Amino acid sequence: MLTTRPRGTNDILPGEVEKWQFLQQLTGQVCREYGYGEIRTPIFEHTELFTRGVGETTDIVEKEMYTFTDRGDRSVTLRPEGTASTVRAYVENKLHALPQPLKFYYIGPMFRYDRPQAGRYRQFHQFGVEVFGSNDPAIDAEVIAMAMDIYQRIGLKKLELHLNSVGCPACRPVLRQKLQEYFKPHLENLCPNCQGRYERNPLRILDCKSEKCQEFGKDAPTTLDVLCPDCSSHFEAVKGYLDEVGISYTINNRLVRGLDYYTRTAFEIMTRDIGAQSSIGGGGRYNGLIEECGGPATPGIGFALGLERILLTAERQGIVFPVSRGPQVFIATVGSGVARKAFGLLQNLRQQGITAEQDYLDRSLKAQMKYAGKLAARFVIILGEEEFDRGVAVVRDMQAGEQQEVALGELVSFIKHKG
Ligand SMILES: [Zn+2]
Ligand SMILES: [Zn+2]
Repeated sequence: MLTTRPRGTNDILPGEVEKWQFLQQLTGQVCREYGYGEIRTPIFEHTELFTRGVGETTDIVEKEMYTFTDRGDRSVTLRPEGTASTVRAYVENKLHALPQPLKFYYIGPMFRYDRPQAGRYRQFHQFGVEVFGSNDPAIDAEVIAMAMDIYQRIGLKKLELHLNSVGCPACRPVLRQKLQEYFKPHLENLCPNCQGRYERNPLRILDCKSEKCQEFGKDAPTTLDVLCPDCSSHFEAVKGYLDEVGISYTINNRLVRGLDYYTRTAFEIMTRDIGAQSSIGGGGRYNGLIEECGGPATPGIGFALGLERILLTAERQGIVFPVSRGPQVFIATVGSGVARKAFGLLQNLRQQGITAEQDYLDRSLKAQMKYAGKLAARFVIILGEEEFDRGVAVVRDMQAGEQQEVALGELVSFIKHKG
């Protein structure tokens, strides 16, 4: 073998790909119902889009990007997520001049140089939505409701919505000061990373994965303690809309998004598989991001989910996806004289919308029947020279195990009627 696929990538084969097609169709359908249009942006972008748009101090930018210099000596990066590209397209195409809000969705591969593990790949796939141009809490609730709707239609169980407000540039300095007061006595016990964060961005200490930092941060003040009146009423309104449509939520004041352009609503959807609780998607408001990327001050909110993660969770929860079915018709031939006629019939059936297959390995009739069984064909049309001369073919119903002669001119309507 010449080589294998790169570590952290996957071949999605027929038999498995149907699940992906199902998810793509389902998400597309839900997006149409909610009025979100698909946007397709390049797989790679100029590197600075992500350093600015995702954030220089994030793990993604610091450790996980597929960045390389192209032949024109420009630094480009395979997109590690979908929001920054969507924002860039919005600004570059001057979509802010159109009636707002604008609602987008995307689905496709993303790239992160991460340690591969179950449900985690270096080339992985995300579905996401972004809404630009509205600060209305009804939009926050809509994005959340849409996410929950998608999970429910997939059939995922034990869904838990975690909700928080991370405030705005008006409330954050207050929290920053309170956090610094809180962590001051523990400063030298924090991990080296968080010691740096203490000055730069103490909010991110709450985000730290180190057990020690989590322990020290247990009773730290949170954004909910410092929300300004506007953020507070926005948060109340979001909860009110969710109550209205019967979506229950857990307030989780530990749900932080450390970057300055994240504002107000933050949410994460959790589920349980084999006992452990895990995140299957999340999002929130980012009213500062579009400006950060060089556009006019424009509110925005988004949501994203990883398709690999969803499929893994669905499998662990025993959810059965639609499976690929065999062809409706297999054409078996007896004698080489009917090969051309069989080919014509095959084409005719397909053009009538009937899925049809034939033998391409010169098998005996017995072997053709066996092969048709393996393909799970619903009917086998047996075309012999003698029958053909009489203007008929034998049709075998593979489910019922019965067969009968059908006039050649009646084959299509016979299959359509019985299949
Ligand atoms: Zn505020
Ligand atoms: Zn830490």
